[in-house]
Amino acid sequence: GGAGVATLFISDLHIDADCGQIIRQFTEFLQTEARGADALYILGDLFDSWVGDDAPDAGQSAAIAAIKSLTASGVPCFVMHGNRDFLLGPKFCADTGARLLPDPVIVTLYGEPVLVMHGDALCTDDRPYQRLRATVRDADWQRQFLALSVAARRTLAGAARTGSQAHMASMQDAITDVNAESVAAALRAAGTSLLLHGHTHRPGIQSLSVDGRECARIVLGDWHNEGSLLRWDSSGPELLSLPRCD
Ligand code: MN
Repeated sequence: GGAGVATLFISDLHIDADCGQIIRQFTEFLQTEARGADALYILGDLFDSWVGDDAPDAGQSAAIAAIKSLTASGVPCFVMHGNRDFLLGPKFCADTGARLLPDPVIVTLYGEPVLVMHGDALCTDDRPYQRLRATVRDADWQRQFLALSVAARRTLAGAARTGSQAHMASMQDAITDVNAESVAAALRAAGTSLLLHGHTHRPGIQSLSVDGRECARIVLGDWHNEGSLLRWDSSGPELLSLPRCD
């Protein structure tokens, strides 16, 4: 890291109407550091839940307006679906000026190809979650869900969130983290030495070897108690925590 122009990565803000501190910190971040960036990438779970582009809550609308003013200032913003906001769609893109990224995707940063994911697809030890993921990522399931009333969608999302919290509480920590063989397989398939993801809320940089190749897995943190930022410039990646100011 340093003073040069950088590409910025964040994830797992989990914004909804009840998190004013996170919204204020995110808005401030978009108005300051992000304004000078080459690009901003949001790698999933920007929102704690998203029942469709027609139903943002007040907190989510504030975040959307803040992203719009960043993109209007000329900074490109790329957003990846997370497991909470996988229904972000075309109206969200129009309202923010952001572009949706596929998961996984390879992003070339200052000459270095990097495999970028949300991270939930790597948590293959959690079999019930992977079954749920396959269901809700199905196009027919999504069409049927989006055809329901906003009230019905909110009820179902609330029940899913309660179920997910109970499921996570019942699982050992190791089961909800990434699976080492799935990480190796993803790096092997992509042919990159670098993997960047969020989702697990376990920020850090881990070295690993894949078929004798030295690799690194960079994990973004969530924004629950403080912000988490990966700043990547021509001298490489730097993982930072952003203290809360208020
Ligand atoms: Mn997630």
